[in-house]
Amino acid sequence: MGWILRLVEIGAEGEGQAQDVMEIDRPGGLSDIAALGLTLSETKQLLAGLQQEIVAAQVSDHATRRPLCSRCGHTCRVKDYREHVVATLFGQVTMRLPRFRCSACGGIEAGVDWPPYCRATPELVRLQAHLSATMTYRTAADLLEQIFPVNAVKHSETVRRHALKIGDALQECAVMTPETMAPAVVVTLDSTFIRSCETGERHLEVRVGNVETKSGGRQVFGAVAKTETDVKALINRNLDAVGRTKETALTAFTDGCSGLRRILADAGVTDLPFLDWFHIGMRLQHLKQVAGALSCDDPSREAAKAVIVGEVERLHWRLWNGKATNAWISIDRIHVVMHHFKGESGTGKSIAASRKLWTALHAIDSSLTGQSDWLVNYAERHRAGLRVGTALTEGTADFLVNQRMNKSQHMRWSRRGAALLLQVRCAVYNGTLGSDFGQRFQPANDPCPPMATAA
Ligand SMILES: [Zn+2]
Repeated sequence: MGWILRLVEIGAEGEGQAQDVMEIDRPGGLSDIAALGLTLSETKQLLAGLQQEIVAAQVSDHATRRPLCSRCGHTCRVKDYREHVVATLFGQVTMRLPRFRCSACGGIEAGVDWPPYCRATPELVRLQAHLSATMTYRTAADLLEQIFPVNAVKHSETVRRHALKIGDALQECAVMTPETMAPAVVVTLDSTFIRSCETGERHLEVRVGNVETKSGGRQVFGAVAKTETDVKALINRNLDAVGRTKETALTAFTDGCSGLRRILADAGVTDLPFLDWFHIGMRLQHLKQVAGALSCDDPSREAAKAVIVGEVERLHWRLWNGKATNAWISIDRIHVVMHHFKGESGTGKSIAASRKLWTALHAIDSSLTGQSDWLVNYAERHRAGLRVGTALTEGTADFLVNQRMNKSQHMRWSRRGAALLLQVRCAVYNGTLGSDFGQRFQPANDPCPPMATAA
């Protein structure tokens, strides 16, 4: 069987010129499932053919328009033609566009409303940026080449350039503020590291976080340290995006790092941030494992181990219930019985459990020193359904930074490249990139949340 795909132009006077785009041949029977419908290569050919025809019609229409001289206002005549090559999602198109000369003053004019410099359509650039946010530039380029007839932009360097251009533009974007104000917003801030390709630096510090309202509005943000991306400004942009007002109660969570605390304070989150439970919980978890692995090969050690395991539990309870000021009691009691494990030897090359316990205990002790006033009653908050920590931000760091810029993938990043790509990633997850797909969260400023849509 055969078909001809014919494109018929429709004008004010009805049907105009018809143009054959493509012939399609397929077997009539269905004995070969591989011959069912269109193939990918035919589809690419079809899209590219359609694109050529439509662009050609647009070009011939555009060429008939005569601009007025921008200097003296007189009419212009065609001077010569220039070729313009523009990459589109459906193939590279070459356009012959006229240039004009003013009949009065001789000034040269480009066509009416023709952008002075354009090598790719915005849609293509945005899709390249979007894909680059979730996969390597190389993979993004390959994927586009597999699916679309993008003959001109299959180089990963072009994809990278376009992605960073979008990242740069995103920083200038105006914030869309929601109609409803948020009575309370939780801000979390954390940091992580990626490998650097800059000379003299092994790692780049990346600050990530999110703002969250009770109604589920959530925005993520990220900034590479020591770049033009101002993390304080980002925090404020995101607070605005979820409906922060002067009356909004802000609660902040972060880890023990004083740098992050200062950023929050500088960003206007004036109430002391809470030490997030996630970080304490991780340390306690480690302490419990180490205590459980202590040897109990004689009765005195067995008794001492029981004391230690019990005190670790008590320490956990104290911290969880906001009694951090009494944490030293548990720590002291553990210290008192630790001498029973003197001379304990590790199995094989591993370090003795008692040494590990000593280290873990010291880590908790020093992380609590001077911080007890910013530990809260986590149990109470938890019962009230409130956040107790930045486990969410740890997750944010993971998907926002590690999944794309991971240390283990042996990727090395330039400061600028990482900073701008991170803006694209945030925009993809926040649903603010301007494309309609790939949103991870319900955008905070979405006027119709899914529940309302369903009802
Ligand atoms: Zn003129």
